[in-house]
Amino acid sequence: METILLLAHTEADGTLAKAALEALAAAKSLGGELHVGLVGVQAQPAADQIAGAGAARILAVCGEPFATARYATDAVAAEALCRASGAAVVMAPTTSRWSRALPGVTFRLNGRVDTHATAVSMVNGVPAVTRWFYRQRMEAVLTRSERPWIILLDAGCVAAWSGPAGSAAVELLDVATPETRTSVVGTRAPEAGEQTIRPDAKLLFVAGAGWTKKQADGAVHAAEAEKLILEFLRAAKASLGGSKSLVDLSGEGEAVLHCMTHLNQIGQTGATPRHPKGLSTCCHGEEPHAVGWRFIGERRAINLDANCGWARGKADVVYVADAFEVMKRLNELMK
Ligand SMILES: Cc1cc2nc3c(=O)[nH]c(=O)nc-3n(C[C@H](O)[C@H](O)[C@H](O)COP(=O)(O)OP(=O)(O)OC[C@H]3O[C@@H](n4cnc5c(N)ncnc54)[C@H](O)[C@@H]3O)c2cc1C
Repeated sequence: METILLLAHTEADGTLAKAALEALAAAKSLGGELHVGLVGVQAQPAADQIAGAGAARILAVCGEPFATARYATDAVAAEALCRASGAAVVMAPTTSRWSRALPGVTFRLNGRVDTHATAVSMVNGVPAVTRWFYRQRMEAVLTRSERPWIILLDAGCVAAWSGPAGSAAVELLDVATPETRTSVVGTRAPEAGEQTIRPDAKLLFVAGAGWTKKQADGAVHAAEAEKLILEFLRAAKASLGGSKSLVDLSGEGEAVLHCMTHLNQIGQTGATPRHPKGLSTCCHGEEPHAVGWRFIGERRAINLDANCGWARGKADVVYVADAFEVMKRLNELMK
């Protein structure tokens, strides 16, 4: 196996986040000589954190200019690390920071890049990448002869590396800070209200447009729906997903769930999260929605319609029931 470089940016405290440790585990699984390249305001805490990983070299580009995400500084740091290491294969976690910078770095190195890899393995003695195409409908395993080959590994696909910390030697690279037009003065985030997207949750709870439709009494009960859903999310610590119809309603001035935005949308034109279990409520389970459930381990659905999409082989269990009643009872039981 060729030499492999794990490329990671450090967090504010200088350590590595879970996604970087997952990429480290994937890099180690290939079996070649391991190099580590670190970018951030400081790298020693990260190097010590993974001292037990058996890296032959730990290289770093450090300093205040490399503290925050910015294409110009991230690209120059990553390029310097790749050149200094000379590794044929470069593994990096799919973070917004690397997703933005590494394709450009690959061009500078005259290499090739694959994004959204879900696994790496050795096939006939050469490294291979597994990834999905056409919105998670087809899975492919591919190899490439071009080098360097930069691979961005999606989070949540590989168990994070864990091992003893220690004290590791770091080779600091002296990289001139490029001229930048962007200076980061701080972070201002919109008022997002309650955090409902939890990628590490054991359960994905999906709400469909049915929650906002007229119910048996001929009335809409959106406020009650929101209360039931939030109560359940807090008790189960579940992540909240929505169907496209539901998240689109807010733009149409109809009864809406305020806890829901387009970021919650699951499906072909939404997200494809990874959770061990999923519970769909008041959602029909049409293919463009259900395709976003590709990586959900066990699927259950609650729908009034015994002939809904979930009942056609897309869920393991379908409860033909009124979701208002079921969730009310479930919340009582969870108290
Ligand atoms: C190109 C394209 C891309 C798309 N991408 C996506 C995507 O990414 N994600 C996505 O979600 N959709 C997507 N869609 C839309 C998708 O096809 C469906 O229109 C959408 O998922 C329907 O949403 P829904 O099931 O919430 O609403 P509806 O189809 O209105 O279903 C509501 C369901 O709620 C049930 N219900 C009502 N009241 C209750 C109750 N009290 N208890 C239990 N059940 C109840 C009803 O029986 C019904 O089945 C896409 C479509 C196209 C054409």
